Amino acid sequence: MKAFNLFLVIATMIVMEGAVALIHKYVMHGFGWGWHESHHLSRRQTGWEKNDLYAIVFAAATIGLFALGDTNAPLWWIALGVTLYGMIYGLLHDVLIHKRLAHQWRPKNRYLKRLMTAHYLHHATRGREGGISFGFLYAPPVEKLRKQLRSNNARK
Ligand SMILES: [Zn+2]
Ligand SMILES: [Zn+2]
Repeated sequence: MKAFNLFLVIATMIVMEGAVALIHKYVMHGFGWGWHESHHLSRRQTGWEKNDLYAIVFAAATIGLFALGDTNAPLWWIALGVTLYGMIYGLLHDVLIHKRLAHQWRPKNRYLKRLMTAHYLHHATRGREGGISFGFLYAPPVEKLRKQLRSNNARK
């Protein structure tokens, strides 16, 4: 693998985190709330939910990216970055945080613990308004999030 291709993969994953946070905040909690609402109804997911339609749309778009380029084309490596991001996202968000697969994984790692708490705080709001922490692989310090949540609640 050429160094430039590795750079593309890593850069794509970083850009993805920003893009996903924006999509989550402005699309899924915006006009796309109809699909995402199912994900805010309960913390523990059993079976499929309407929100999974997003995963299908994103996967289809990524397959399209792969199809557009061969391994010599930058686009192929960007598609790989998107795929790796999606796999890590699925493992942390769906398996670790929402326990869609049964497991006894209780992370001691500070980064993972912070990520989990931040996402549970995201789920602290049931409605589409007033939410916090829209990112998935990066989470601000928990104390900062709690403050934000308090001030959002006070404004209501
Ligand atoms: Zn949400
Ligand atoms: Zn969630």
